[in-house]
Amino acid sequence: MPQLAQSSAHNNDNVRHNWTLDEVNALFALPFNDLMFQAQTIHRQHFNANEVQVSTLLSIKTGACPEDCKYCSQSARYKTDIEKERLMEVEKVLEAAKRAKEQGSTRFCMGAAWRNPKERDMPYVVEMVKGVKSLGLETCMTLGMLSTEQANELQQAGLDYYNHNLDTSPEHYNQIITTRSYQDRLDTLDNVRSAGMKVCSGGIVGLGEQATDRASLLMQLANLTPQPESVPINMLVKIDGTPLADVEDLDHFDFIRCIAVARIMMPKSHVRLSAGREAMNEQMQAMCFLAGANSIFYGCKLLTAANPETNQDILLFKKLGINTETVANDIDESIEQQQLQAKVVEQQHSDLFYNAAN
Ligand code: SF4
Repeated sequence: MPQLAQSSAHNNDNVRHNWTLDEVNALFALPFNDLMFQAQTIHRQHFNANEVQVSTLLSIKTGACPEDCKYCSQSARYKTDIEKERLMEVEKVLEAAKRAKEQGSTRFCMGAAWRNPKERDMPYVVEMVKGVKSLGLETCMTLGMLSTEQANELQQAGLDYYNHNLDTSPEHYNQIITTRSYQDRLDTLDNVRSAGMKVCSGGIVGLGEQATDRASLLMQLANLTPQPESVPINMLVKIDGTPLADVEDLDHFDFIRCIAVARIMMPKSHVRLSAGREAMNEQMQAMCFLAGANSIFYGCKLLTAANPETNQDILLFKKLGINTETVANDIDESIEQQQLQAKVVEQQHSDLFYNAAN
């Protein structure tokens, strides 16, 4: 078996920030089983292989975004079916967060379709962060570009994570977005890091990019110092009306390879199976967990793209013997497990339950 990742992948703290494109391409070129074995081996060195962290994502302001991301239903430049919504009231956001907690989520992510938050929006988002935090949930936001001052303000309010994706490789980037630069994105990540928040940053695959663009994206992410704590890998959800509505599908094995390579290169990060999970059957999702994915979004809506319903996720976890990760000190594990068990039993008695043994 090629030994590239095992022999040279890790320095003392097991994390490298000097990956070259040739090395990453070589990982992608490994025989599938060798790649999966390496990814799972590294995964087990850093994580409980049977635990998945669960986040809920709520769109707190939908549509009418001035940016031109060619995959996005929320860009004002494309004619999509999206219903525009103003910034949600703080109370409504907190109600949604309570429900997410009851369903087993440990992190609540709030997303707004903005180029960047305006000063008039900041008091509201700050209140949302404080309120969600007080429920004992980890907090995450994705609001577009952030200035140093805004990053500091959110950190002081108690924001744990900020999501800002690199989206794709620097080489493919101009094909996808023209209204902000790659450097703008890196600057926001820098501001988030400097403010003391954790970074959630990943990308989207299936944008019509080349295989080497996927390698280049992962190289960018892994060479950030420190690496992002959370790395969402999204499969494009094709939306009618957007320029990428008819782009060619990405082969599912290429997607699984991305997860595995991300796991090898970012051994201590949570690799999140994000958008596009709706189009994946249970076996595909199980392969992604085997490749080292250990975080998902729960719930029926992933911003504006459909996401498998929570109970289907619970059933899949049950079939695979996967437990949900808990937040240290905040969530009583036994209560959470009881809730999970109760939901599984409830679902098994439902007419909708599909018994694979029949
Ligand atoms: S991805 Fe974000 S920034 Fe880009 S158009 Fe959609 S909402 Fe706007």
